[in-house]
Amino acid sequence: MKKEIVIIGGGFAGINLVKHLADETGFHVTQVDMNNYNFFPPLLYQVATGFLDVSNLCYPFRKLFHDKKNLSFRLGELQKVIPEENKVRLSTCELSYDYLVLATGAESNYFGMENIRKAALPMKTVDDAIEIRNYMLEKMEEVIIAADETEKKETRYRRNRRRRAHRCRDCRHVGRDAREYSGKGLS
Ligand SMILES: Cc1cc2nc3c(=O)[nH]c(=O)nc-3n(C[C@H](O)[C@H](O)[C@H](O)COP(=O)(O)OP(=O)(O)OC[C@H]3O[C@@H](n4cnc5c(N)ncnc54)[C@H](O)[C@@H]3O)c2cc1C
Repeated sequence: MKKEIVIIGGGFAGINLVKHLADETGFHVTQVDMNNYNFFPPLLYQVATGFLDVSNLCYPFRKLFHDKKNLSFRLGELQKVIPEENKVRLSTCELSYDYLVLATGAESNYFGMENIRKAALPMKTVDDAIEIRNYMLEKMEEVIIAADETEKKETRYRRNRRRRAHRCRDCRHVGRDAREYSGKGLS
């Protein structure tokens, strides 16, 4: 009977182990992840700044494993390890294991600075990167709108000044014409 290996987390570590175990005859491996795709974190910056689309750094686990007989993928978030029963409880189901590997990565660390934790935008996941990108686009749109408003105000101000200047010139003409007229009238 094949030993069951459950690997929680399909990031750099999880995927590397899966690659080593692929085609090993003595095991069956179940890769678990809360997302159905593996992604390449070094390219998150490019997603966050709008240079790359998410599809450029994500790859579906099922596509990765489709030709491997001893590998399968299970979508779910780890909720509890029950070591006395050799089981893990996921958000989607329960799995039994002979060997359990936890490769769930790390979380952003704010080193106890609560004010930074509240204000900062972390960049650990694809969702984080999309949130940063959307936030930056929103802020840029606000700047463009503000710039438009300032431009509109300036145009209105310049137009009004021109009108006032015309009116004054017209007044001067009117005054001169009136004087000339009145002069003519007097002669
Ligand atoms: C923006 C950024 C840029 C980086 N650039 C570089 C670089 O240039 N070079 C370099 O060497 N390293 C880089 N790193 C670091 C590198 O990405 C990490 O060291 C590496 O990803 C860690 O691998 P891991 O498998 O431990 O965790 P991860 O790759 O984070 O994988 C963890 C996996 O576990 C899953 N998971 C988490 N919790 C659960 C749960 N409860 N249930 C189920 N699944 C779960 C996650 O969905 C994820 O797929 C970068 C990291 C970031 C964030």
